[in-house]
Amino acid sequence: MRSEFSPEQLNRISSMLFTAAAEGLVVVDASGRICLENPRLRALFGYGAGELVGEPIEILIPMPMRHRHVKQREDYHQRPAQRPMGQGMDLMGQRKDGSTFPVEIGLNHFEVDGERYVMGLVTDVTQRRLAEDELHKANSELEMRVEQRTQELRTAEQNVREALEVERELNALKSRFVSMASHEFRTPLSTIMSSVDLISRYTAGENADKVNKHVLRIRAKVRELTAMLNDFLSVEKLEQGLVTVNSSEMDVVHLSIELLEELRALAKPGQELQFDHEGDERNLTQDRSIVSNILSNLVSNAIKYSPENSPVKLLTRLAEGKLQIVVEDQGIGIPLEDQPHMFERFFRASNAFTVQGTGLGLSIVKRYLDILQGSITFESIPGKGTTFHVEIPQHHVEKNDPADRG
Ligand code: ADP
Repeated sequence: MRSEFSPEQLNRISSMLFTAAAEGLVVVDASGRICLENPRLRALFGYGAGELVGEPIEILIPMPMRHRHVKQREDYHQRPAQRPMGQGMDLMGQRKDGSTFPVEIGLNHFEVDGERYVMGLVTDVTQRRLAEDELHKANSELEMRVEQRTQELRTAEQNVREALEVERELNALKSRFVSMASHEFRTPLSTIMSSVDLISRYTAGENADKVNKHVLRIRAKVRELTAMLNDFLSVEKLEQGLVTVNSSEMDVVHLSIELLEELRALAKPGQELQFDHEGDERNLTQDRSIVSNILSNLVSNAIKYSPENSPVKLLTRLAEGKLQIVVEDQGIGIPLEDQPHMFERFFRASNAFTVQGTGLGLSIVKRYLDILQGSITFESIPGKGTTFHVEIPQHHVEKNDPADRG
């Protein structure tokens, strides 16, 4: 390709480039002496004009590396090539004042009049190294922080795991205790009950009335205690997911009458237990013991929370594939502010504290109804009475997922 500059112009341009280059340029002869350098190189190394020409190139290299450099330079002269110098190594330059700084060097060789020369292109990489160091430092700090945070998270996770394990053990212990206590307490209670029954047969004479009064009281208290233990056992079973639905054909009228017969023993003087059934059908396919439990919980509450001489009504209705149960009383009612909490475990309304109870019955009823896919609502006027409405499918349909059964 034809140059557009004359040789004289080219000379001037080359010399200008050499002088104005932003990199340091140095030319060294075969014996390693500097024969030419540009102003940038002098500025980099802190020398004045003419100070470097004739000096060995090692003057620009820190003392500890000079000896090795002589050998490297001689090797390069044997097999010269265009290449960057000391790739992957941290090369250093030494200024006139003895201070050092990081450099990058590109090497090239050429011949003039049969003499071989080496040209070095020197770049000061102090700023780049500083930036790299900063980056490195920031990275290490970040890694350290990540490691620290990971460690903290690991410790936190371990703590949670341990707490969970303790919680699980306590829970298992509580479960075992509740089951054991509820089972074991029931046996002596039933013995007490049968002995009380026997005692009541042997009462004669002048103290008969007094004995009978105590017999009745013992019976009532044993029944209360048994009901409480049953509640604990039911909650435990529900919590453990051990409740399964065993549906069978049953007659809701028979079941209700039977239950009311049993519950009559709890009634206060003058408390009439009324029952009515609506609809032609009476049969349903449901879990008998769960339905009994729901009915007896609601009716015994109606009895407990209403005074002497006030009626308790149980109404059952079978229509459109649903069993509806209504339990109505004219008792103490439920204070408005307590009504939203009725189905919470251990919740007892503020007006119920003179009456024996655990606050578990309604929560058990609610959980049972969830299992049967039924529902419960109530309305209550404090001081006037309460009515509970329950709805249960007439025929229980197995759900696919047994884990859904609470
Ligand atoms: P318990 O009767 O053992 O306290 P329940 O879970 O059966 O527990 O009932 C929770 C609370 O609901 C009772 O403590 C009582 O305050 C209130 N309650 C339930 N049924 C009635 C009712 N028929 N009349 C008035 N209050 C009731």
